[in-house]
Amino acid sequence: ALDADWTRRWIALVADRIAERKAELSHLDRDIGDGDHGENLDRGFTAVRSRLADLDADATPGAILKLVATTLISTVGGASGPLYGTAFLKAAMAAGDAATLDDDLVAVLAAARDGIVARGKAEPGDKTMVDAWTPAVDAAAAAPDAVAALAAAADAAEAGAKATEPLVARKGRASYLGERAIGHRDPGSESTALILRAAADA
Ligand code: ADP
Ligand code: MG
Ligand code: MG
Repeated sequence: ALDADWTRRWIALVADRIAERKAELSHLDRDIGDGDHGENLDRGFTAVRSRLADLDADATPGAILKLVATTLISTVGGASGPLYGTAFLKAAMAAGDAATLDDDLVAVLAAARDGIVARGKAEPGDKTMVDAWTPAVDAAAAAPDAVAALAAAADAAEAGAKATEPLVARKGRASYLGERAIGHRDPGSESTALILRAAADA
């Protein structure tokens, strides 16, 4: 079940993988941004890891997601801090006080994506993290159950991140580069794929 233990495992796995792939994420951001995406997220998820250890043992998935949100908003900065912060906050609201996310998973993922879109105003094809989130939500919605939805979301997010490579960016720092952004993967779409793969693996 996608219960509180699963939610904690997911977030801990995200923190581990961000730490492992910090340099790679910042390298992507060096090509078409300011080179800090891996450091930004590692700072945030390191803080999340330590605050989660202090959260009540009986905290619900929604309470865990809310702690992730407030921590990312206060520690990540840049464009991705408020965007991921909003995503986790809206996900927490969609989760409510349910003991598991099994029945609400698609609503939780859709709320996260909708929060990012409301905050950043990017559309699919703008070469942002929305290009990983949108196919992920669509794939999850078409899956027969929550476990299949997580796997489908991760696969779709990875494909969506790869598909940002040929695009010109219309939002974020990469949009200043015009056609020079072509051939480079959007770093935020890659971190979204990492987050959703961790959810499937958790
Ligand atoms: P900054 O660009 O401020 O240094 P980060 O490097 O942490 O912030 O994050 C950059 C990522 O944020 C981009 O790769 C892109 O995916 C995402 N991003 C930037 N602007 C937007 C936006 N308006 N909507 C959605 N995602 C965005
Ligand atoms: Mg950056
Ligand atoms: Mg920056």
